[in-house]
Amino acid sequence: MKITHIEHIGIAVKSLEEAIPFYEETLGLKCYNVEEVKDQKVKTAFFKVGQTKIELLESTDAEGPIGKFIEKRGEGVHHIAYAVEQIEDQLKKVEEKGVRLIDKTPRKGAEGLDIAFLHPKSTFGVLTELCENKNK
Ligand code: ZN
Repeated sequence: MKITHIEHIGIAVKSLEEAIPFYEETLGLKCYNVEEVKDQKVKTAFFKVGQTKIELLESTDAEGPIGKFIEKRGEGVHHIAYAVEQIEDQLKKVEEKGVRLIDKTPRKGAEGLDIAFLHPKSTFGVLTELCENKNK
């Protein structure tokens, strides 16, 4: 697989409203986009750090993936997303290597990216996302 950079780091927070001021006022980053991803039951807020983004994730439903994550493990780093090209081919390749996939085919994530998750049981405990920007 050829990864070009870390596209973003996903961080689960209880409240965007409470977390955004820390990123803006203390870390000095600028929130440039807030977006709801309905099928993931989250509201996201994005900050740029060089080529990489920080994606804050607030659950809109206690039964959604971020709601459950916070319930079990509290707030904190939720996933790491790597930018790749030809995401469909990359998914096939990692599956051939025996990695368990959460998404066998890519779906639409925030910012119009094509995304797919690898199961943390196959990735040493880190929920790993592959993503490709097909809009550029
Ligand atoms: Zn993500």
